[in-house]
Amino acid sequence: MPLALTVYGAALFLLFLWVHVVSRLEGEKTAANRSLLLALLAPLPYLVAAWGPIPGHGVAGLILLVISLAAPILLMIPTGKPRGIADPAATGRIDERTIMFSRSALEPGSSRFDEYYEKYPEHRASDDKFRCLPGLMSPDSGKFESLSFAAAGASFDTVEELATMVEGLPASERAAVDQGEVTRFLKGWSLKLGAVSCGVTTLRDYHIYSVKGRGPRFGKKIDLHGTGSHRCAVAITVEMDHGSLGTAPEGPTLMESAQQYLAAGAIAVQMASFIRRLGWEAEAHIDGNYKVICPLVARDAGLGEIGRMGLLMTPTLGPRVRIAVVTTDLPLDVDGRNFDPSVLHFCGICSKCADICPPRAIPAGAPAAIEGVERWRIDQEACFAYWCAVGTDCGQCIKDCPYSHPDSLLHNLVRWGLKRSWVFRHFALRMDDVLYGRRPGPLPHRFWIPRRKQTPA
Ligand code: SF4
Ligand code: SF4
Repeated sequence: MPLALTVYGAALFLLFLWVHVVSRLEGEKTAANRSLLLALLAPLPYLVAAWGPIPGHGVAGLILLVISLAAPILLMIPTGKPRGIADPAATGRIDERTIMFSRSALEPGSSRFDEYYEKYPEHRASDDKFRCLPGLMSPDSGKFESLSFAAAGASFDTVEELATMVEGLPASERAAVDQGEVTRFLKGWSLKLGAVSCGVTTLRDYHIYSVKGRGPRFGKKIDLHGTGSHRCAVAITVEMDHGSLGTAPEGPTLMESAQQYLAAGAIAVQMASFIRRLGWEAEAHIDGNYKVICPLVARDAGLGEIGRMGLLMTPTLGPRVRIAVVTTDLPLDVDGRNFDPSVLHFCGICSKCADICPPRAIPAGAPAAIEGVERWRIDQEACFAYWCAVGTDCGQCIKDCPYSHPDSLLHNLVRWGLKRSWVFRHFALRMDDVLYGRRPGPLPHRFWIPRRKQTPA
């Protein structure tokens, strides 16, 4: 028995040492310090029970050994689908004019502005609040830093250039394509271009905004089914860098956001152009130019689940992704929805993002029935007002989500356990809090990105 206890103690030491090394490499200083402490402390009871000159240590050692051997089995018992969690059904179509980006683009005094608030008077008070704040990317905002803000602006400028290429006429000759072959090609090529995942779904009504809220087609009805007969939607995700997002809500997170909107947009624009060259219709949906709701399309294309913060939770990067979509009439092999109730269960017990969110825009309780569907809905007005105060798109909820850890063996083992076991989900949640803290602070900036607030000239 002393040998078995010693081996178990040594295994715990090595496990926490591994966590320590991984955390150091990821720049997670708190987790690195705490895991090192655990590596030193966790084996102690085993060594004392094995070799300590304490009366009754043999019985204590036996009990400790039985509990220690039973614990991993208990943690890994598959529990199947968590009870009471239903597959959220479809929702109605959303008018793009009601989302915050559209509302923030309304010019006070313009007829659009007056018409909007006549139709939605309930939005006036909250929108007046964000209009009094400095604004997204403003030099007067709380997190302004000239270099990272300018870099983000440069990426957004490039996204705007891409917007001229989101649609176009297909080649006059329609190529005969093998549905399976072209689907495989599109998926493989998207990964080659830098996407981390790609899936295809049948385009459904609730994926499509009902009315355009931004750009020259403001107020026009959207009908991708009717006019273009787009039947399929291809969703792609790109990774947001863990280190950059770790600085949220500082400037580097805005830089990263903008860069990945650009990366996702470039892939979608190329993909749409490729399809049009084959003689089929295709339109890219990229930042600032959406006719579809990307997270819903990506969910139905099997790329993840929608979590508490209303974002796509992907299997290996959690919400740490940006999405772009291509809709087309090209016939493609469609992926099934990958309903994962373990994510919804974990969100139900976690609510870390709700605790972290500075303006409390994320609901902390159980999902509510919204338009007949049980789901969480964030307070988009409160979130956007915070962005307008700090000047960045914040991202603290994404940064601290336990699913957002890097795509590595250690974190993927945890994700495997989360998917499999009810007990493991509760255990992992506690461990995430112990190692990273319930409200982790920002990671340091890369050495070449200044942190100080710079006063504009
Ligand atoms: S932080 Fe927790 S509750 Fe929020 S999305 Fe992530 S897992 Fe869900
Ligand atoms: S981005 Fe920031 S303000 Fe918005 S929901 Fe997430 S934590 Fe809250």
